[in-house]
Amino acid sequence: MATILSFFFGHWFLSAFSQTFFLHRYASHRMFTMNRFWERFFHLFTILAQGPSYLNPKGYAILHRMHHAYSDTELDPHSPHHSSNFFTMMWKTKHIYDDYAYGRVEPKKQFSGDTPEWPLVDRLGQSWFFRVGSGALYALFYIAFVPEGEWGWFLLLPLHWFMGPIHGAIVNWGGHKYGYVNFKKTKDESRNSLPIDFLVMGELFQNNHHGRGTAPNFAVKWFEVDPSYQIMRLMQALGMIQILNQAEAQKSTETSLQLSA
Ligand SMILES: [Zn+2]
Ligand SMILES: [Zn+2]
Repeated sequence: MATILSFFFGHWFLSAFSQTFFLHRYASHRMFTMNRFWERFFHLFTILAQGPSYLNPKGYAILHRMHHAYSDTELDPHSPHHSSNFFTMMWKTKHIYDDYAYGRVEPKKQFSGDTPEWPLVDRLGQSWFFRVGSGALYALFYIAFVPEGEWGWFLLLPLHWFMGPIHGAIVNWGGHKYGYVNFKKTKDESRNSLPIDFLVMGELFQNNHHGRGTAPNFAVKWFEVDPSYQIMRLMQALGMIQILNQAEAQKSTETSLQLSA
C-alpha cells in the first residue's frame, strides 16, 4: 500500500510541477530564463512526468495565452462559466488544445511564438506508441505492487493516464469558481482557492495570477505560500534559472492591492 501511495503522489506532484514550472511559467509566460541544457532537461522532465497525458509546450502556451486574453468570456478555451460541468469543460479544452498542438488550426499571431521547440520529443509525446506504452508501464507497476486481493487500487490508474488534463481542469474549474479574491479589478471570475496551494503547486492562486500576470510568485499575502516559487528561488540560488520581474511584480502588487482594497 505504501508503495502504491508513494508512486501515486510522486507522479501527482512531479506532473503538477512540470505543468506549472515548465509549461505555464516558462513556456507560456517566460517568467524566468534558463540555458539550453536546462531547457532541454525540463522538456524531458515534463514528458516523463506527464507520461501518456503529455501536453506539448506550444499547444499549452497558445491555449493559455488565449485564456488570459479572453478569461471567462465565450472565447475562453476553458471557463467554468461557459461549460455545464467539469467534464464538458475538459472535453472542450481537449479539442481546442488538439487543434493547436497538432497544427490543425493556425493560432492568432499574438498567441503564438517564443515557446520551447523540440519536435522530436513533442512528436514522441503525441504518438500512440508513447501514450499507450507509458500508460502500460503504470499498469505493470500496479500489477507488481498492488497487494493481493486489494483490487480497488487499480481505480487510480485512469488518474495516472489523464494526470496533465486533470490538473489543468482542477485549476481551470476551481480557480475560476471557488475561493477568495485579492485583486478585485480583474475582468474575470478568478479566485484563490487555497491559501497554501500544496495540491497543484501554486496554480490555484488564479486571482493573484490574473491580477499580476507577469509576477513569478503566485502568492501575494503573508499567509499565502506558492510552493513552486520557493523551488524556483532555490533553483536560482543554484544557478539553474534566472527569475525575471521580481522587483517590478512586488511594486505592482502593492499598488494593485491598494487599488483593490
Ligand atoms: Zn498564466
Ligand atoms: Zn485563469
